[in-house]
This record gives sequence, C-alpha cells and structure tokens, in this order.
Amino acid sequence: MPHNDTEQELLPGQRAAVLVNEGPDFSFKIQSLDRPTVGPKEVLVELEVTGICGTDLALAAGYLGKPKSIIGHEGVGRIIAVGSASSSVAIGQRVGVGWLRDSCGSCRPCMLGGETRCQLQIFSGRMVEGTLATLTVVPERYIVPLPEDLSAEQLAPIMCAGVTAYKALKCSDASPGSWVAISGAAGGVGALAVQYAKAMGYRTIAIDGGEIPKQKCLDAGADIYLDYEKETDLKAAVTRETNGTLCSAAIVCAGSAPAYEAALTCVDYFGTLVGVGITPPTSKVAFHPLALIDTGIKIIGSMVGSRADILEAVEFVRRGLVTPKTVTIGLDELNQHIKKINEIDGKLVVRLSG
Ligand SMILES: [Zn+2]
Ligand SMILES: [Zn+2]
Repeated sequence: MPHNDTEQELLPGQRAAVLVNEGPDFSFKIQSLDRPTVGPKEVLVELEVTGICGTDLALAAGYLGKPKSIIGHEGVGRIIAVGSASSSVAIGQRVGVGWLRDSCGSCRPCMLGGETRCQLQIFSGRMVEGTLATLTVVPERYIVPLPEDLSAEQLAPIMCAGVTAYKALKCSDASPGSWVAISGAAGGVGALAVQYAKAMGYRTIAIDGGEIPKQKCLDAGADIYLDYEKETDLKAAVTRETNGTLCSAAIVCAGSAPAYEAALTCVDYFGTLVGVGITPPTSKVAFHPLALIDTGIKIIGSMVGSRADILEAVEFVRRGLVTPKTVTIGLDELNQHIKKINEIDGKLVVRLSG
C-alpha cells in the first residue's frame, strides 16, 4: 500500500463536472482539478461510473439547500490510495459511493441500527463533493465493498435508486404474495421498485401516467398498470384489479402530494404506506386521521438504505432477479442529457474512467 508521499504524488488529478449557475438553469462545466487531499483515515476512490438520480437534479436546482460544486451519489470505483492511518482496506478494492457518505456509529439512531438517520450524517454532493468526478474521498469506516462479477453500470443504480426501492419494500412488511402498489412506477426508483417487488414475491400494481410509462412498467414486470390520468377513482380501480383486497403496501416514489393521498386510499386494513418520493418544500400531504384510525394503516418514510441493505439489494442483481436498465453517456455529454432523465428509457449512467 502506498503510504508514503512519493507514491501518492504519482497519482493523477481528476476530471469533474463542476456545477455552474446553481438553480433552475443549472449546467456543468467539465474541468481538470487537483487530486483531492486524503486524510489519515480516508481512502481515495477512482470512480468508473456514476448514476444520475432525481435528487441530483433537485440539488443542482437548489431545492435542497446549497449544493457542493460536485454532485452525484451513485458511484462505483476502486480504492487507489489509502490514508496514512488506514489499516483495514486494500488498494484495488471495488467500492460503491452512495448518498450517505459517513455515519458516526455512536449517536442514538446509529445505535438503533439506523445509520441513514445518523445525527451527524454526511450526504454526497450536499456536504461533501459528490461522484461526478473521476476521484472522490471516502472515510475508511464507511466503505461499501462491491462484488467483482457485475458491471459497474449494473451496480451504480443500486447505490441509491435500487437500495431505496428495496428498503422501502423491506420496511413495508407486506405479506409475500400480496398486492403492492408502486406509485410513480416508471421513474428511476419506481421501475426498480417494480422489479424488486416482483423478485420479493409480491404482485405489483404500477401507477403512473401515459403510454410510454405503461410500457416501461410492463417491461419492468408489473402485473397491472393503472394510469392515474385515466382512472378517476384510483381506489375503485385497485379494488377491481385485486378482487377487493386492495394492497398490503403502497410505495410512493412520485414526489407529489396527490400521489401520496391517492396511494393511501389503495392500502388495505393494517397495510403500510411507504414514502420515498420527496414533494416540493411547500407541498404538504393532507389526509383525515380517520384514514389511519379506522384502518390501522401505518405511514412510514424510508431513506436509501444501510450498507447492509445495499449489499442485499446487489445480491438480487447478482442472481439475475433484478436487472437495472441503463443508458451510459460520457462526462462530456452530461449537459445534453441530465435534464431529460425522466424521458430516457433507463437509468442515466455517466462513464468517468476505465
Ligand atoms: Zn439518489
Ligand atoms: Zn450516528
């Protein structure tokens, strides 16, 4: 391991997509930058690819506070240098870099096993530079080791969208074989949620709007597609399709209050509504308490997943049960494609090196 300065100086600088004009008209400037500094207990990762997530667009648009100049949080690469006090990681190790870049391990949420709710959590592209660069720095204690037998393009979408979909289904506690509704099913998270739901033994009702989304959802393996633009009474449509049982869980991937409100009406007694879609800051979800009191329905918010959840989600891909559909571009093509991610037939993945 190159612990000495001479070897580390031989390592390259980086190419990065630097965010310019943060706000609704954001764009990126591809620049050569210095190699980032690696602290004693950190490692330097050379990224091969990074996926693009809807949250990246929200960050760039300034909806989630001030972003860093480099965003991105679905990175896959290899450790190429380790800090002077790092001891447990090896150069060449393949790793993933997701939304959560570090957790303290000792606050109450961490002790409860919920590292994604760590009180000192560090988010990629929001508090530290993200993965739209050839190099990034990761704390040694927060490595996500990835297997060698999948392409980087297949692994990248799991780092955020895939694990978000998988964890949402996991925490729904829906009974195997029961109906699960996926609202916003044609989006980046939604299409993977449809695949994970099927792989986990659920029957799926994909909810979205339009004919192209319909095909996307059916291609992803949805049993039923419901077009919310055509169904004036979504509950009635779900009741019809499920022979009256409704859904044991609804996963709301769409970032709109009406999507949450409509999905709640599709959940059966004692079922669960799991929200991962983020509405604009001024948009509040409204429902009457009796919608919960009368039914025993639970509402849960879920956020990405722990490192263990990521590894579980990756196993579905390794076993061929989930196959992320991806479209790969070069870093120089980023400006042409990033604002069209909802029109692209698959997850947008940016090739950074290799
Ligand atoms: Zn994301
Ligand atoms: Zn913590």
